[in-house]
Amino acid sequence: MGTRRNFLEKITISTVGLSLINSPASLFAASNETYQGPELKVALMGLGSYAGRVADAMQDCKRAKITGLISGTPSKLKEWGDKYDVAEKNRYNYENFDAIKDNPEIDAVYIITPNGLHKDQAIRVAKAGKHVISEKPMGINAAEGQAMVDACKAANVKLLIGYRMHFEPKTVAVIQMRKDGEFGQPKFFQGQSGFVIGDPTQWRLDKKLAGGGAMMDIGIYSINGARYMLGEDPIWVTAQETKTDPEKFKEGVDETIQFQMGFPSGAVANCLSTYAMNNLDRFFMTGSDGFVEMQPSTGYGPIEGNTHKGKLTQPHVTHQTLQMDGMAAIIFDGKQPIVPVDGEEGVKDMKIIDAIFEAAKTGGKVDVKV
Ligand code: NDP
Repeated sequence: MGTRRNFLEKITISTVGLSLINSPASLFAASNETYQGPELKVALMGLGSYAGRVADAMQDCKRAKITGLISGTPSKLKEWGDKYDVAEKNRYNYENFDAIKDNPEIDAVYIITPNGLHKDQAIRVAKAGKHVISEKPMGINAAEGQAMVDACKAANVKLLIGYRMHFEPKTVAVIQMRKDGEFGQPKFFQGQSGFVIGDPTQWRLDKKLAGGGAMMDIGIYSINGARYMLGEDPIWVTAQETKTDPEKFKEGVDETIQFQMGFPSGAVANCLSTYAMNNLDRFFMTGSDGFVEMQPSTGYGPIEGNTHKGKLTQPHVTHQTLQMDGMAAIIFDGKQPIVPVDGEEGVKDMKIIDAIFEAAKTGGKVDVKV
């Protein structure tokens, strides 16, 4: 961060990140206050493609910094260690990372490995007495998610899930509008989440490592989005699965699922989750007094949206920068984003995914109790 412009950007980004927490009304109030408090010392686990995005975004964080690395690939430990200035003594592999318990330079581990590994890794991190940040989906089913919640509770550490949209300015503004009653009674949500997946040999198409297919990876955004856009949790689901390429999408790996959710107020959601179609990143919600449409709705941004009151104009800020500063505020100050990102929130989505898989298999309506 050599230039004055970069310095100012860093201040502004961090101010936005902090002010997202608890005071949406003052979301974008500029401030030149410099941050004096503690920084969240984070070890990244699983140095793959998303971890690279997180690591770059964290260079602009004010309250969080990378102090540790955990990887199964020694050359990455060296390369990332040099790039992000992580001391050699703070670099670990999957065999020896329990030793972080004796390392005061690590407060939290951000698990960014394949979904099927999150549960055991999270339990080990909790047992080492460090806070756990887990990527979504938190595990491969609700039982795994609950085991993670229980382990973190027993170890008295926080468990946070990488729901970056809960910190994203336009999304936060829409949730605030809904809370303020600007859409009236929410009635209907439509979520379309999908892309065409490439390499058939990747872990995302391996049932054991991924826990499923598109639903675990991208469909989860429509589930989570339906809940924060409507402001309720579903009480039933129905689902229909289609598979055009059973060679690529083996048993237990979903290619395309359409699903419906019913909510206590009578609101309904109709969603599509797919690994077989592009240009699907769209949310629409209508209530008794207004509507919102967002497209793109959950990509890395900029998010774009319109409501009955006009275009959403909140500025784009790198999601992962806001998320990590926001998570530091949760851990250090006990603050909460507009919609929680804790383990319990993650378990709700996992319970809904379990029910959708059951509904797709049986063809019936499945009750959900989150
Ligand atoms: P990648 O395949 O790019 O990276 C995963 C990394 O995990 C690997 O590079 C490897 O790192 C490590 N790893 C450990 N064991 C294995 C294994 N058996 N097979 C493959 N990799 C292994 O995946 P992504 O970074 O795209 O995804 C990781 C997680 O992040 C997933 O849970 C995914 O859902 C989530 N994600 C979230 C996004 C979001 O927007 N919130 C976006 C993209 C992904 P190493 O060599 O260092 O051990």
